[in-house]
Amino acid sequence: MEIKMSDLFGSMVFNDDVMKQRLPHATYKEMKKALAAGQGLTHEIAGVVANAMKDWAIEKGATHYTHWFQPLNGVTAEKHEAFISPDRDKVIMEFSGKELIQGEPDASSFPSGGLRATFEARGYTAWDPTSYAFIKDNTLCIPTAFCSYTGEALDKKTPLLRSMEVISRQARRILRLFGREVDSVETTVGSEQEYFLIDKADYDRRPDLIYTGRTLFGARPSKGQEMEDHYFGTLKPRVAEFMAELDRELWQLGILAKTEHNEVAPGQHELAPIYTSANVATDHNQLTMEFLRKVAPRHGLVCLLHEKPFAGVNGSGKHNNWSLATSEGYNLLNPGDNPKDNAQFLLFLCAVIRAVDEHQDLLRISVSSAANDHRLGASEAPPAIISIFLGQELTEILEALASKSDYETKQKTVMDIGVDILPKFPRDTTDRNRTSPFAFTGNKFEFRSLGSAFSVSGPNIILNTIVADVLKQFADELEQAEDFAVSLNRLIRHTIRDHKRIIFNGNGYSAEWVAEAERRGLLNYRCTADALPHFTDAKNVALFTRHGVFTESELKSRTAIMQENYNKTIHIEALTMIDMVNRDILPAVIDYTAFLADAALKKDRLGIVTTTEKALAQTLSEKIGLIAERVAALSADLAAVPAAAGCEAESHYYHDVVFADMESLRVVVDESELLVSSKYWPYPSYGEMLFRVR
Ligand code: ADP
Ligand code: MG
Repeated sequence: MEIKMSDLFGSMVFNDDVMKQRLPHATYKEMKKALAAGQGLTHEIAGVVANAMKDWAIEKGATHYTHWFQPLNGVTAEKHEAFISPDRDKVIMEFSGKELIQGEPDASSFPSGGLRATFEARGYTAWDPTSYAFIKDNTLCIPTAFCSYTGEALDKKTPLLRSMEVISRQARRILRLFGREVDSVETTVGSEQEYFLIDKADYDRRPDLIYTGRTLFGARPSKGQEMEDHYFGTLKPRVAEFMAELDRELWQLGILAKTEHNEVAPGQHELAPIYTSANVATDHNQLTMEFLRKVAPRHGLVCLLHEKPFAGVNGSGKHNNWSLATSEGYNLLNPGDNPKDNAQFLLFLCAVIRAVDEHQDLLRISVSSAANDHRLGASEAPPAIISIFLGQELTEILEALASKSDYETKQKTVMDIGVDILPKFPRDTTDRNRTSPFAFTGNKFEFRSLGSAFSVSGPNIILNTIVADVLKQFADELEQAEDFAVSLNRLIRHTIRDHKRIIFNGNGYSAEWVAEAERRGLLNYRCTADALPHFTDAKNVALFTRHGVFTESELKSRTAIMQENYNKTIHIEALTMIDMVNRDILPAVIDYTAFLADAALKKDRLGIVTTTEKALAQTLSEKIGLIAERVAALSADLAAVPAAAGCEAESHYYHDVVFADMESLRVVVDESELLVSSKYWPYPSYGEMLFRVR
């Protein structure tokens, strides 16, 4: 049966159209008014909305509802409640306004980074009416924020909403200076998602994938991605079927998944949605990841969202396309058609440039994790050094502006800031630089350092806050200006002059860039252990508290959780490695060596040459010795983690000692894999995993 896209799209979403249809007109209007003003709903309105929502959901087959939220451990959480309420001897379907706008999950086991003492372990969830309710698995899901009773954010949504409000406020101040009154300014986000698909049968045979999401061992296949023949190649039938079903699932939830094509690495794919408000985009990306994982097994596949499932093969990232739009839909990073729009564009552009330069540390921190460390700086993903790609054309314009003297520009007329009309920037040109972590792509910025498994919330909280902070300083200065045009000129020129070191259009993968960046004084936090402690630097505490995005304790608790995640990740990987070596790998190599020795003995007796068997058995015996030695060293070092020294010291130890041990153990095991008969090797090879899916 043919299903029409128009019937399918958003069919499981309690969206604006449905509300318009199902709510009494007065309620609908009042609700919209409250939302536009950023206010909460009264209990009365909530009651009417809840009732309409419940009826709609039940008609669609829902039996339960849940407050759907995003705790700090990176996944989404749900606690399902039935609609059913007992009413004497029959049951009725019930769902009140109070249940809609507030829930109390018994969520004491979610990480709080020390924010909640156990006696007040319960947090509460509050409906975020800017993200529509939806139905999945016969459950009405109500997107919610999750806070402690003292109002501290325990989730990823609350601070994102705060940061969106902050940037809206500051951007409106700037727009007012240009004579524009708008209701609000929205952060828009489109996040492109990369992932791998492998055969489920292979996955099930790899403890490393099951426990850690990545392969901890594995020799490189004879064919890797050298040929790049996979990129934009035709889809394999099984993958195509998977994608078709994924699309249907996502479309029902109102997620506009648009393009799906093969990525650079074999087995790797990408999905891009059409952009929307940062808050909704975050919810949608969480759902996208959930459905990627859920739909794959229906096709005998497993979706790997890990940033680096295979060593030596391109990892997976997430490109966070980011811009600002007025409530009328005008994109503020769109270079305008007339001098006034140009000037406004340049001011917003300068705000981003200065924000990124002043807060390189925060952007780097926002993409830190044990898994993403394998990508950043590994000549395949954006480097760990943050810089901005603007393209030659725009860079030249900025340089020309900056080189003018104050005197020269004073002579000029009102909005002329060096260029009357900016040339139209090609939206997608050949000089698009994939090696840049932060690229201007015509009318938006693309932050490319995010890991594939990340929630996009964190990086957008940072982006919104740092840009808002600069906009605030710009507004403070320009609102006091005697002559707006003169001050605007000066501000733009000085900003470019002071922050142009962050602009880099060259090859971000090159060794020369690392040296050049150091000369320019740019930060280079090579790993998560180096980056994370700076989250709570005094400048950052001041920044976040100034705008009310994070309190100091919220910031500290988040840092603690990220550090703990980092340490735990490496700990589990190390344990998994030890287990795999002791129980599967060493026995396999020993078996095969014994087989070679047996063969040599038998052949010796018959007087047949055995040089190869003996030499190979000798080499493998030496490898066995090395493997045993290195796994013992890893076990010993893992037992000696200086837990008492605190999370930060622990992180450095995990990076410098444990991780180094793991790398050296892996080297001998991978060398051995290439010498041992595939009949003896206990795990599917890289070649099998990457090329088996047809
Ligand atoms: P590109 O060719 O630069 O990759 P696309 O049009 O393919 O551009 O868009 C890539 C992603 O950027 C998509 O998810 C798209 O929805 C998103 N995007 C486009 N415009 C904006 C915008 N103004 N704000 C945020 N995201 C955007
Ligand atoms: Mg992209």
